[in-house]
Amino acid sequence: MEKVVFVQCASYTPDQVADALERLLTPLGGMANYVRPGQKVLLKPNMLAARLPEEAVTTHPALVACVVRAVVAAGGEALVGDSPGIGSMARVGEKSGIREAVEAAGGRMAAFDEICVVEGIGTFRRLDLARTYCEADVVINLPKLKTHEMMTLTCGVKNLYGAVVGAAKAGLHLTAGRSKELFAGLLLEIAQARPVALTIVDGITAMEGNGPNSGTPRSLGLLLAGENPIAVDTVAARIAGIPPELLPVEREARRRGLPGTEFDQIQLCGDLLLPPVVQPFRLPEGLDVQFGLPGFLKVLLRNQLTPLPEAIEKNCVLCGICRDACPPQAITLQKNALKVNSGRCIRCWCCRELCPHHALKVKKSLLLRMIGG
Ligand code: SF4
Ligand code: SF4
Repeated sequence: MEKVVFVQCASYTPDQVADALERLLTPLGGMANYVRPGQKVLLKPNMLAARLPEEAVTTHPALVACVVRAVVAAGGEALVGDSPGIGSMARVGEKSGIREAVEAAGGRMAAFDEICVVEGIGTFRRLDLARTYCEADVVINLPKLKTHEMMTLTCGVKNLYGAVVGAAKAGLHLTAGRSKELFAGLLLEIAQARPVALTIVDGITAMEGNGPNSGTPRSLGLLLAGENPIAVDTVAARIAGIPPELLPVEREARRRGLPGTEFDQIQLCGDLLLPPVVQPFRLPEGLDVQFGLPGFLKVLLRNQLTPLPEAIEKNCVLCGICRDACPPQAITLQKNALKVNSGRCIRCWCCRELCPHHALKVKKSLLLRMIGG
């Protein structure tokens, strides 16, 4: 059985988080069950972009600091790193408050700048992961629970995409981003290539709507933890009220026969007997309605059934960040206007994820609007 623990935590005050973390880890044997004295322990929070903690884009610094303290108390050396979607780790660490919190707690930031080539175990034969991440004795995954325009949910499995070093991300998006199933397979293979010891989810304030960067903070008051990130995500999605058919990672994990996708494989522990029932999370606008369609129909109706990014002229400052990040180079800036080539666009939504000015909206075809997609 895959054990998943969830506990309530009403706020990010250090005492409350420390108390909740202890209750969270006790059923798993405590931090000492994962960290031995002298080990290098890499904590991998979500450091997507340089945003303030209250915007709920990044893992909250209070939780990162508490986990650092627990690692140090177990005798480990706590390193914290990620490969942000936009900007440097130094900039994201500064604005999110993570760097200051980590250093005050006795840990240190460790850049993901050096590549370690890992031999893939499935479809992807080569993965360029961060050396710091690969060579740590122990990895602890610290995702933020958020909706995600491409994958519906970003939590335990999707957070590990940050182990791919900067420029290699765009290449993998281009290769795998044409199909959600393929991209989900890539995420699962990254998670398997370098397994994490533990996943601890920041669900105290989560994000709903147009996540992972432009959604709305949603107070949930929960921390979740487990050894298997797939099982943790299954429970997180159930709490968020997201149906399994909208979760490519869960569907692909089930297709591959990986454990953790079924509730009868999961032992729930923690403050409550069952996950709390909450109002289902608002889903991102960019989700398409391709699920379950045969392949040829997906190709035929692609432009009708999948929304397309479109610039909001009054917000767009033509900075070019989205153009430079677009894996298939579908964005051009011509005559003071941003254009998206619908034929090239693979609907990975990296542009919306990375635009610092919230200047891209979701454009839906008439058919898509008529069927309520
Ligand atoms: S849409 Fe956003 S990222 Fe793209 S050019 Fe405009 S402001 Fe920059
Ligand atoms: S235009 Fe946006 S959604 Fe389309 S491929 Fe480029 S980054 Fe992805």
